[in-house]
Amino acid sequence: MSMFGDMPVDVGVIYEGERIRRKDMYIELGGPDVKEKFELTRVKKMEEVDDGKIAIIGPDIKDMEAEKSYPFGIIVEVAGAKLEPDLEGVVERRIHEYCNYIEGFMHLNQRYDIWLRLNKKSFQKGLDSFEIVGKILYRLFKSALPIIEKMQITFITNPDKVKELYGEALQIYDARDAKARGLKDEEVDKFYGCVLCQSFAPTHACIITPQRFSNCGAISWFDGRAAASIDPKGPLFAVEKGELIDSEKGEYSGVNEVVKKKSLGENTRVWLYTAFGYPHTSCGCFEGIAFYIPEVDGLGIVHRGFKGITVNGLSFSSLADSTAGGRQINGFHGISIEYMRSPKFLKTDGGWNRVVWLPKEVKERVKSFIPAEVVDKIATEEEATTIDELKAFLKARDHPVVQRWKAEEVAAEEEAPMVPVVSASTLPITAGGFKIILKDAKIYAKKVIVRSVKSEKQEKGEGVAKK
Ligand code: SF4
Repeated sequence: MSMFGDMPVDVGVIYEGERIRRKDMYIELGGPDVKEKFELTRVKKMEEVDDGKIAIIGPDIKDMEAEKSYPFGIIVEVAGAKLEPDLEGVVERRIHEYCNYIEGFMHLNQRYDIWLRLNKKSFQKGLDSFEIVGKILYRLFKSALPIIEKMQITFITNPDKVKELYGEALQIYDARDAKARGLKDEEVDKFYGCVLCQSFAPTHACIITPQRFSNCGAISWFDGRAAASIDPKGPLFAVEKGELIDSEKGEYSGVNEVVKKKSLGENTRVWLYTAFGYPHTSCGCFEGIAFYIPEVDGLGIVHRGFKGITVNGLSFSSLADSTAGGRQINGFHGISIEYMRSPKFLKTDGGWNRVVWLPKEVKERVKSFIPAEVVDKIATEEEATTIDELKAFLKARDHPVVQRWKAEEVAAEEEAPMVPVVSASTLPITAGGFKIILKDAKIYAKKVIVRSVKSEKQEKGEGVAKK
């Protein structure tokens, strides 16, 4: 009998990537309609973990009202002689993968942003308790990662408890991320790759360097190293840096090779520190997006939790549609919040000097990493909700991009000085048997040649006579 023969639903890799639409969902856990949600892994001492225990704090699936969204938390506690706290992030990220193996159960995103749905069909088949989900996760974890000797899983649906633990989880994520700061890309001999998201974006591979955190924000370079050492054949693997081709853009021959292989030839080059040219691909679970705003020649940032409309009139989900899918799209770039704290953050593009707009919530989170001379020059939704407002704000604060506008204006003028030659309220043109009327026309030309009709006729006449 398979390890899941006693379960009411099927379990397997084939269910990864399965999407559950609202009309098919029985319940939703976390997701955009719920503020507090999280998943967390903690490495504990052997005596602190009751192996195989599944606990539920709050109502179980069968006690929940159908078609509703609920605050939700999952805590996976693990112990093992060789398990180190460094592995917490790696084990935690696998919650996403293993939940998606369950037929009719969908898991998106990570950490404080999780979004799960159970479909009606699987509920009707008997998947009506977190006890079942917990047992499946337990078996999958134990068979894939033998380093885990003991494991207990707690599901939390009681809203007060979720809220309380959510705050604690945020602090734990922050402390974890802070540990990875300080190390430079130049100081390590290997980077790490992750293809966990290929079930949703088949040509995507994250390249995780000390200074370019994974797009999901859940895996640091240290996590990559720890994962590759315990499960080298798993979704996280070492990437030899190879030759440094371009230090400004962050191009390495080893990274190019790996990306080409993992994307099956779709992408052949990656520039790690830019949103343009050959940017790092974006899967679907990025924490934020850097998007180009051509009107001001700057970059906007929006994070997944932003419910409003960004300064260019688009929501996070519309921008995410243009960004996701494992493609390299000029000016649409999936990023993590932690990458915004890196000295390599969009370095090629000007770093923070090129960022013109971001939601206040994210600005507060990363404020201490924004250079002091530019921090007040970057607008949030409170200062600008339209491009015109943004332009005025940037000009008033003398944001560094304003210098770029001036430079561009000068370049444009030098290249092609335009002279208005005709200005008319109605300008009829007759050509090829048609009469075209331009209303309120102003015509500019690079060069104006003035000749009398008489001299033209004479030239033509001479030309004919000479023949
Ligand atoms: S976003 Fe990247 S690092 Fe995170 S799970 Fe997906 S592929 Fe892995």
